[in-house]
Amino acid sequence: MKTRWPEAYKVIEKLENAGFEAYVVGGAVRDFIRNVDANDVDVTTNATPNEVKQLFPHTIDVGIEHGTVLVVLNETIEVTTFRSETNYSDYRRPDAVTFVRSLHEDLQRRDFTMNAMALSKSDELIDYFGGREDIENKIIKAVGDPAQRFAEDALRMLRAIRFSAQLSYSLEQETMEAIQSLHHLVAHVSMERVKVELEKIWISDFVGNGMHLFVSSHLADNFPGEWETFRNCWKGFSSFGNTANGWAFFAIMQAPAEVESILSYYKCSNAEKAHVKQVLGALKQLEKGCWSLYNFFQFTEEVLVAAASYAKQLLNMEVIYTEELIQQIKARLPISSTKEIVVNGNDLMDWAKKKRGPWIRDAMEKITVMIVNGKLVNDRTEIMEWFFQEYNVDDLQI
Ligand code: ATP
Ligand code: MG
Repeated sequence: MKTRWPEAYKVIEKLENAGFEAYVVGGAVRDFIRNVDANDVDVTTNATPNEVKQLFPHTIDVGIEHGTVLVVLNETIEVTTFRSETNYSDYRRPDAVTFVRSLHEDLQRRDFTMNAMALSKSDELIDYFGGREDIENKIIKAVGDPAQRFAEDALRMLRAIRFSAQLSYSLEQETMEAIQSLHHLVAHVSMERVKVELEKIWISDFVGNGMHLFVSSHLADNFPGEWETFRNCWKGFSSFGNTANGWAFFAIMQAPAEVESILSYYKCSNAEKAHVKQVLGALKQLEKGCWSLYNFFQFTEEVLVAAASYAKQLLNMEVIYTEELIQQIKARLPISSTKEIVVNGNDLMDWAKKKRGPWIRDAMEKITVMIVNGKLVNDRTEIMEWFFQEYNVDDLQI
C-alpha cells in the first residue's frame, strides 16, 4: 500500500507528524478505486499554505491564495489546504476562497462524487457522497444540487462530459438535466478552458460518448461549427490519437470557407491550423484516387496516417495505406526534405544570370518533383544539365 504513491505518503507523514491532517484526494483516489494508475496525486490538508511551506525545504508557490503549494521531493506533489468556495458571481471563479478546517467541507466543494473522496495513509476511504458506489455503477453525479454546482462554475458541465468520454460512464439523470437547462452558462467559460476539455475528449477512448453528450446536453449549441454532423460521424469512433487530429476531423465537417474562422474562434494555434490544412489537402488528394510519390514527400507521416484513417473510418473508402505502408513508401523516397537537394536558388540565379524572382520557386519545385519521382538524380551536374535545357540557357559554364 505504502508504495503506491511513495512521495505523496512522505508528504502526508510529515504533515501528520507535525499534528496536521492530510489525505490523498480527487482523481488519484477515483483512479485507485477504479484500479488504474492515476495521472497525478493531489494531497489535501488542514495545514495552511504557510504551515506547509515551513515544513518542507523545497516548495513552489503556484496559487497560494487558492491554498495550493507544490512540494518538491523526488516528484512534485500538489498540496492544497482544505477550502470552501463562496459566491460565484461570474459562473466561473469563486469570489473568495475560504480555508476551512474540516475535510468534509473541502470534499463538498468538489465537482463529482467520484472526485470527492479522500484516502488516508492508513487506507481509510473517506466517502461522504457515495463516490465509490457511483464508480461501481459507472455514474457521474454532481456533489449536492447539480444546478447550483453548475451555476457556480460552468466549466463543471464540460468536465462531466469529458469524464464520460474518458471513462465511458453515464451522467446521472439530474446531473444531465441540470446541464440541459443551464447549458448556456458555458458561454462564461474561457475559450482556453473549453479548448482543453474538448481536446481531452478527442484523445479519450470513448470520443463517441463525449460527442454524443456534448450535443444532446445542448452545450454544443453555444459554439460555432457543425457539431451535430460531427457527432453523427463520430459514433463508435475511438480516440483520434492526438488533439491536432481532433481539430482536423472537426474542420472536415465545416464549410471550407469557414474553417479558418472557426479554428480561430477556438483559439487554435498556427501549428494546429497548419496541421488541419495539411490533413484536408491530403484527404482531397486521396479522394481523387491515390497518393502520388510527391504527396508522400509533401505530407508528413502524421498527416498521411490521419487522412487515411479518416477516409477509411468515416468515409468508408477503400484505403490501402496502413501506417506501415506509409512509412515504407516514405522511406523509399530519394529525398525526404527540400533541404537535401544539392542545389539552391543562388545556384539557379548564377546559372541563368537572372535576378531573384518567383521563377526560382517554380524551378526549385520542378526540380523537387522530378527528384521525388525518380526522373532526375539529386546530383549537381545532372540538375545543372536539366536546368540549362529546360530554361534554354546557352552560355554553359559547367
Ligand atoms: P485528471 O485525471 O484529469 O487529472 P482529476 O480528477 O485529477 O482528473 P483535476 O482537474 O486534476 O482532475 O482536479 C483535481 C480535483 O480537483 C478533482 O478530482 C476535483 O475533486 C477537483 N476539481 C477540479 N476542478 C474542479 C471544478 N471545476 N469544480 C470542483 N472541483 C474541481
Ligand atoms: Mg488531476
